Amino acid sequence: MSFDYDLLVIGAGSGGVRASRMAAARGAKVAVVENRYLGGTCVNVGCVPKKLFVYASEYAAKFEEAAGFGIKGAIEHFDWSTLRDNKTNEISRLNGIYKKLLENSGVTILNGTAHISGPNSVTIGDQTYTADKILIATGGWPDRPDIPGAEYGITSNEAFYLEDFPQRVAVIGGGYIAVEFAGIFNGLGADTHLLYRGEQILRGFDQDVRSFAATQIAHKGVNIHTHTDVVRIDRLADDSLRCQLNNGATLDVDCVMFATGRRPQTDGLELGELGIQTRDNGTVVVDPFFRTSVPSIYALGDVIGTPQLTPVALAQAMKLVAQWYSDDQTPMSYDNIPTAVFCQPNIGTVGLTEEEANKRFAGDITVFESSFRPMKHTISGMPERTYMKLIVQTSSDKVLGAHMVGEEAGEIIQGLAVAIKAGATKAVFDSTIGIHPTAAEEFVTMRSPRS
Ligand code: NDP
Repeated sequence: MSFDYDLLVIGAGSGGVRASRMAAARGAKVAVVENRYLGGTCVNVGCVPKKLFVYASEYAAKFEEAAGFGIKGAIEHFDWSTLRDNKTNEISRLNGIYKKLLENSGVTILNGTAHISGPNSVTIGDQTYTADKILIATGGWPDRPDIPGAEYGITSNEAFYLEDFPQRVAVIGGGYIAVEFAGIFNGLGADTHLLYRGEQILRGFDQDVRSFAATQIAHKGVNIHTHTDVVRIDRLADDSLRCQLNNGATLDVDCVMFATGRRPQTDGLELGELGIQTRDNGTVVVDPFFRTSVPSIYALGDVIGTPQLTPVALAQAMKLVAQWYSDDQTPMSYDNIPTAVFCQPNIGTVGLTEEEANKRFAGDITVFESSFRPMKHTISGMPERTYMKLIVQTSSDKVLGAHMVGEEAGEIIQGLAVAIKAGATKAVFDSTIGIHPTAAEEFVTMRSPRS
């Protein structure tokens, strides 16, 4: 049977674009369907614009730090529209680059909303295309809790395009997005409240990292309210939003941002009709070859419930193409995925947390940790501290995890991830010469285990 395409990809985000380009490079006839923007969440309403906002949010603290170095100054004026619009221009530039990348790879871009009309067919409007393989790479979408007044709140999608910069903000949630945006709003001058329903923000991270980071974030000025949830939101006569909290208190703000997780974006694909298996949370079930329960239909990225990280989607796309066109019949490894939270200071982490290590290797764990005042702050006078931690398997001496809360932790942990992926032992860390004076050198000079 002949098809219009060898591969039809639904979604031109990080994973979809990479899979399209790589498959086309192997000689496949490929089309990608997109109904919104090229580059997906990461480029448009995620990693990239977020990092640009993070940069902006860090200038005020730098002015404060400078005074101890004899440099006096202050931010005279923050113009939100300049930041927002310069960011939007940069995103448009990146959209153009994505378009060129696809076109230059010979991939056809189909604009519209796809509906999978059969195991080998996709319908866009009144046009149906056939393909040997279909790849679902539709990503995720911010979710918001079902509470009265939820419609007054925004999500990260809207935060990138706010008309005016809010003076008072409540960010709801305690994960990556909540913590990063609380840092952004706070750094840009808003009175910022982070409302988290649980005991400690950043569930899933190492416990020591969580508590250390929470202390640093609070020092920076974010008001963290734990065991706190918003049960209703009302708009007041002056346009303020009144958050009714679960503890009976109220909090009046100009902006409520929900960062309460993301759901897989599968609306309209008609997965159920085709018998494509999904989990209760809507993520698509795939086998180690990214095959859904319909053999000609594949899926990858945020929509399949693996860690929602751009580099994971990119790696999945590379793996899938290697599985299709090379001899690689190995599954994707999800071990030792490094990740960073771009709060102030950053969190960088790779490998097992102490809690995970204890579960897996009970009684066979040695922990090394260090907390210190970064050299810069001995003169800046800022209270900020840095925390580092290595988790080592005692019997093998293998380093199982590295964690850091501190300036540039994301940059520092990337290098350590290579060492940990390569199976480095603590002895290898110890025999590595440090770079002096840096914070990173502490990772190779931690000699005494925690008692
Ligand atoms: P997360 O799943 O990380 O966090 C969601 C947060 O919202 C949790 O703290 C959760 O609490 C809380 N929550 C969930 N439902 C409710 C509710 N109904 N009411 C109140 N609170 C609620 O999601 P994010 O949206 O922060 O991020 C999504 C994903 O995007 C992340 O998992 C990450 O993989 C990725 N990401 C990565 C970034 C990076 O690499 N730097 C940056 C941003 C996003 P609880 O802990 O109790 O479940």
